[in-house]
Amino acid sequence: MRYYVLDRGDSLSVDLTEQFHKLAGEHGFELDAESPEIVVSIGGDGTMLHAFHTFIDRIPSIAFVGIHTGHLGFYADWKADEIPELIKLMSGQGGPEAPKPRIVNYPLLDLEIVKKSGTTSYVCLNEFTLKSVDGTIVAQVDINDELFEMFRGDGICVSTPSGSTAYNKSLGGAMMHPTVEALQIAEIASINNRVFRTMGSPLVLPKHHHCDIYSRKEQNLMLTIDHINLPIHDLLSVRCQVARQKISFVRYRPFPFWQRVRNAFLD
Ligand code: NAD
Repeated sequence: MRYYVLDRGDSLSVDLTEQFHKLAGEHGFELDAESPEIVVSIGGDGTMLHAFHTFIDRIPSIAFVGIHTGHLGFYADWKADEIPELIKLMSGQGGPEAPKPRIVNYPLLDLEIVKKSGTTSYVCLNEFTLKSVDGTIVAQVDINDELFEMFRGDGICVSTPSGSTAYNKSLGGAMMHPTVEALQIAEIASINNRVFRTMGSPLVLPKHHHCDIYSRKEQNLMLTIDHINLPIHDLLSVRCQVARQKISFVRYRPFPFWQRVRNAFLD
């Protein structure tokens, strides 16, 4: 098996990476930074976001596994002391009782960012946000090429289903099961008056719909794509839709999503 490991860079994650390489070598795995079949992230959810963007051009041929070094993550479900067990399961030596590994696929968000200076495409694992760096933003939101609302406020967040438990949740968005093929639009502190009227509720769009956000004044904007910040001063529009490709995670043991939600937010 060809694998690669990305860690958070702190001493615990670096030590765990060394441990992983040692055990992986003993089980005949091949370290491959160019075309790994499995990418292991050691750290937290942020480390998985890094891993995803590092291998963004190879997403269809990779399955991700997350090991967390702090509290349980949404993308990291193995604990630091479980690496020997994980390696056994990865090598198919988990014994007759071991559950069969399963690949789960989660939808992603596709962005087309149109600036006066050119067009760029991005894919998000968690979300995209549009915010101002100096005051409120003014933006027109169209859904399926029809005017939906004129937005004025702090910003707009468009999340994937697996990102719905992250920034989107802090904005009052709904938590969605990560396999639902949809995107969610949540407002960040909208101003409502006679000129600018917004729906005020998070919206969930199915995969065959799209939304365009048009910048409606000269404004210095900050776009975020997961953990990446992009300052932009010449934005024209952003098209958001469910991506054609999905991210794959290997599950070597079951961990139901709603149990994960309960553990993260209630227990
Ligand atoms: P960070 O260090 O600020 O961590 C943000 C927190 O979000 C961490 O606790 C992380 O575990 C959690 N998180 C990340 N993805 C998650 C997911 N899919 N479900 C549930 N929790 C999740 O930043 P980072 O580690 O670089 O992560 C970037 C992410 O931070 C962004 O994608 C965004 O979702 C999130 N964020 C949240 C807020 C907010 O809630 N107000 C603000 C900014 C960014």
